[in-house]
Amino acid sequence: MATPVKKNDIIDVTFHDLTHDGSGVGKIDGYALFVPNVLPGEKAKIKVLKTKKGYGYGKLLELQTSSPDRVDPPCDIYDQCGGCQLQHLSYAGQLNYKRNQVKEVLERIGGLKDIHVKPVLGMDDPWRYRNKVQVPVGVKDGEFIAGFYQKRSHQIVDMDHCLIQDSLNDEVVQKVKQIAKDCGIEPYNEQTHRGILRHIVTRIGQNTGEIMVVLVTKTEELPFRKRFIKEIPEAFPEVKSIAQNINSKRTNTIFGEKTNTLWGREEIYDTIGDIKFAISARSFYQVNPVQTHVLYNQALEYAGLTGKETVIDAYCGIGTISLFLAKKAKQVYGVEIVPQAIEDAKINAELNELDNVTFEAGKAEEVIPAWYKQGIKADVLVVDPPRKGCDEALLNTMIEMKPERIVYVSCNPSTLARDLKILEAGGFKTVEVQPVDMFPQTTHTECVVRLDLK
Ligand code: SAH
Repeated sequence: MATPVKKNDIIDVTFHDLTHDGSGVGKIDGYALFVPNVLPGEKAKIKVLKTKKGYGYGKLLELQTSSPDRVDPPCDIYDQCGGCQLQHLSYAGQLNYKRNQVKEVLERIGGLKDIHVKPVLGMDDPWRYRNKVQVPVGVKDGEFIAGFYQKRSHQIVDMDHCLIQDSLNDEVVQKVKQIAKDCGIEPYNEQTHRGILRHIVTRIGQNTGEIMVVLVTKTEELPFRKRFIKEIPEAFPEVKSIAQNINSKRTNTIFGEKTNTLWGREEIYDTIGDIKFAISARSFYQVNPVQTHVLYNQALEYAGLTGKETVIDAYCGIGTISLFLAKKAKQVYGVEIVPQAIEDAKINAELNELDNVTFEAGKAEEVIPAWYKQGIKADVLVVDPPRKGCDEALLNTMIEMKPERIVYVSCNPSTLARDLKILEAGGFKTVEVQPVDMFPQTTHTECVVRLDLK
């Protein structure tokens, strides 16, 4: 069947919506066209790049009318870099967009019509919020470069600063890049699987100021190792740890199995509220600590703890939410699939002198049913799964276990909606949804949801 437009057509389109990845949606005779960088209410001249049966993709050529929500993206490489998608939308516009996305998905996928989705909790300053930079290194026109990937590709866009990164982290990355360049260290090449340095990773504990640098290399040997461990801490006394991670595989995954501390401590510390955390090179740690605090406070409020409750924290990472809740609960059980994270979680419990928390490494969907069989029943169950949402076996156990309350923390509204539908059918009522903006300038949305047993 012929589509109303074809590849390379140049046409005028009026846009009325934004997709989940931030592209404008316009329609030509009912046929949807997705175009990045245009906003609802705008009219634009576009070029059709690709057509499929029910929809197509285009590229903005010229804006004909401009939305009052449009702002100048402050970043010089915004149009090339794949890191941010919403810099051209005002921050108030971004928060509105995220709330609407959540509402739309909960209704469409979850069948939840009259759900109270609260206005998104945003940041006072939605820039420079990230505590972790991880950039691939490469070569372009004979020059050593490091930066983020282009949209939908593995071409590196060279970057000398990034407006959503902590500024000090930015400077550390530039220093590492300079040393590597001066020493003539060969960047890793994905195509040929040759070269040495793959990624530069730096993480800052924003509340302590401590920084960790990780050099991910293909080879065990790191040439000029002495220069790195001398010059980085000399330039940045905030650096407390320098590590090397070895990833010799042909893979997109950043880290390999082996990590060696080259200099200083094995970990850095950070605090969220009054809880202190040790973070090692491979630990998962939320990237926006200011909003993490907001998120965890919301989770704590929804948990409604009085001190008498048994709490299960599924997908607990290094035990962040578990420890946050432990101060207000009788007993907390945390489960997480990465054994190293569970090691960290145990250290963190000790560090905070909390002895009412138990951690176990394993799959939430296996460990929690086993606990339930042993008689461990949660009054409050917290889940914070990865993007794919909760495993069905876990959802079934939750329904059987019947905790008074469930607090669902989600980084993916679609799988959240799918899981809420199952939990609603299983006897729970979705009471309130609070989106929290953990990732300003990007399309990612985080939510905390409170469910009560019906
Ligand atoms: N609650 C933590 C971590 C959330 S990220 C925090 O706020 O910091 C999700 C976590 O789920 C990751 O640490 C990931 O390793 C873990 N995970 C993924 N699949 C899992 C599974 N099947 N069972 C248990 N944990 C899992």
